[in-house]
Amino acid sequence: MTAQIIDGKAISAELRGKIACEVERLKQAHSLTPGLGVVLVGADPASEVYVRSKTKAVAEAGMRAFDCNLPISIKEDDLLREIARLNADPTVHGILVQLPLPPQIDPHKVIAAIDPEKDVDGFHPLNAGRLARGLPGLVPCTPLGCVILAKSVRKSFVGLEAVVVGRSNIVGKPVAQLMLIEDTTVTIAHLESRNLDTICRRGDVLIVATGNAELIRGDWIKPGAIVIDVGINRVVGPDGKARIVGDVNFAEACKVASAITPVPGGVGPMTIACLMLNTLRAACAQNGLPAPEF
Ligand code: NAP
Repeated sequence: MTAQIIDGKAISAELRGKIACEVERLKQAHSLTPGLGVVLVGADPASEVYVRSKTKAVAEAGMRAFDCNLPISIKEDDLLREIARLNADPTVHGILVQLPLPPQIDPHKVIAAIDPEKDVDGFHPLNAGRLARGLPGLVPCTPLGCVILAKSVRKSFVGLEAVVVGRSNIVGKPVAQLMLIEDTTVTIAHLESRNLDTICRRGDVLIVATGNAELIRGDWIKPGAIVIDVGINRVVGPDGKARIVGDVNFAEACKVASAITPVPGGVGPMTIACLMLNTLRAACAQNGLPAPEF
């Protein structure tokens, strides 16, 4: 079998195109421009790259970006005041705080301070609770992207086995909850799980988010499975050149899976597209408008 490659770049571009059209419609029909407040503390190079790509995507979608760059030495109270200011600003519909934060700041306190209706990262305990209960709310972007990608190759997962490797609050747990909402039987594996290969082989859908380069081998995958690889790992090849690989051995997996996301070009681009989607949904909800249907 040669797996179908799930093209995250193309699928995210299509989604972003639809979002841009909807933003244009909102501007015309309701004089509403969705706005995203992006809080960056310090100047960590990786965080700066992420923030730049997010603000670029905001502009491309026709939305408004409110950049809030704060010094690395900022006190927790001052950061909380900035969050309160963004919470109170009716032109800001979504707020994201780029993680990690410097050690003097408790990230849980900061996330909890964001208005849950503006919590476009979906990390606020209220949104996490809504997801756990299967209630509508803002869903974390990467997990949402994973499910959209899986659904691009199969409409229904009812009754199938989903295996999620990784149990972080930002990927593993929420994606497992989303797969539960899709009526799959969900297994969550982690570092302490025994016989990971056997567990993985159960998955009709296998979603991997561990941060271990090429952890999952081809013979760990159920023939015909859909594989969603969230991992982003930098490795240096025998030629001395660095490259990015996922948590799944892609070449081996392609011979067994029915469909697989590549790294790069799979889940990564979907995360930003889903951030735009969440910002659009938040703007609609805050203005009493129905959520767009895509
Ligand atoms: P994380 O917070 O470090 O969590 C990793 C999870 O994987 C933990 O639950 C850990 O188990 C589990 N794990 C680690 N090694 C394992 C192993 N050998 N066997 C089984 N389970 C193992 O990481 P994360 O934030 O979820 O991110 C995971 C990966 O996804 C990273 O490569 C990250 O860069 C990538 N990522 C990509 C995107 C994107 O947009 N594409 C977004 C977010 C993250 P324990 O809980 O037992 O420690």
